Amino acid sequence: MDTYAYRRWKRVLAALLVGALMLSLTACDSPASPTPAGGRLRVVATTTIVGDVVRQVGGEHIELTVLLAPGIDPHAFQPTPQDVAMVSQAQVVFVNGVGLEEFLDELLQHAGGSRPVISVSEGIAPRALTGDATDEHGNLDPHVWFSPANVSIWARNIARVLSTLDPAHQEAYAANAAAYETSLDELDTWIKAQVDQVPAERRKLVTDHMALGYFADRYGFQLVGTVVKGFSSAAEPSAQEVALLEQEIRQYQVPAIFVGQSVNAKLSQRIAEDTGIRLVPLYTGSLSAPGGEADTYDKLMRYDVTAIVGALQ
Ligand SMILES: [Zn+2]
Repeated sequence: MDTYAYRRWKRVLAALLVGALMLSLTACDSPASPTPAGGRLRVVATTTIVGDVVRQVGGEHIELTVLLAPGIDPHAFQPTPQDVAMVSQAQVVFVNGVGLEEFLDELLQHAGGSRPVISVSEGIAPRALTGDATDEHGNLDPHVWFSPANVSIWARNIARVLSTLDPAHQEAYAANAAAYETSLDELDTWIKAQVDQVPAERRKLVTDHMALGYFADRYGFQLVGTVVKGFSSAAEPSAQEVALLEQEIRQYQVPAIFVGQSVNAKLSQRIAEDTGIRLVPLYTGSLSAPGGEADTYDKLMRYDVTAIVGALQ
């Protein structure tokens, strides 16, 4: 090898080494560093509802990716390789928690690395599944967002975690969370006024799965029954369970079955036809697509409450 070729080879080798070093630095940097290096904090949220609240609090200071597309049922979600890649690049992952994300453990395992995975529901007292019904999807009710008071806790948790990871924008996160909590109080007051139009004896809910427990507790509704037992829409009812529900619908003179738009409504449709009552669509586990009628948490609640009050009053 002559001197010239040797020098050229050394330059190539040096460039390769620098490239490899930079790659390894980038790889180490993403999960480990708590503060964004010159850019915005890379944040992943699982559901569209969690994503909306994270967006309200994080605003322009975060780079947010929401894993579930609008309309996808969170109980039946299967992550793709792109979802794994999003999580592996994230500096923090916000999840609903309370057992909603059954896909989470496997997703985190595939994503590798380490980063905080925060349940926004930390500090909320979860409802438990009562009665003798048991299901394989856990016994705690993950649908905490059906009470705005719980979403206030989400906002505070999100602001606290973002402030820890990105202290430079601490004041903005606190101010955004406070403003959002004020809007949640207004939402709660509005819901109470709407619900007041429904006589107490007509506040009876039959739903596709047990999604409205926190709503029922907060606003004084009776949960008469569900098409599928338990908190997951992925369960299958037996013929006896369907017969019992139809009997309860007739006995309590329930005027409607409320079904999530992200959930297969075929069986609910049949029960509604059998009992001669209405099938009323709600948004339960997901927001609508952007620009749609329920593309924020606030709009989702107003849509659902209007539909419930309209069907029961
Ligand atoms: Zn659900």
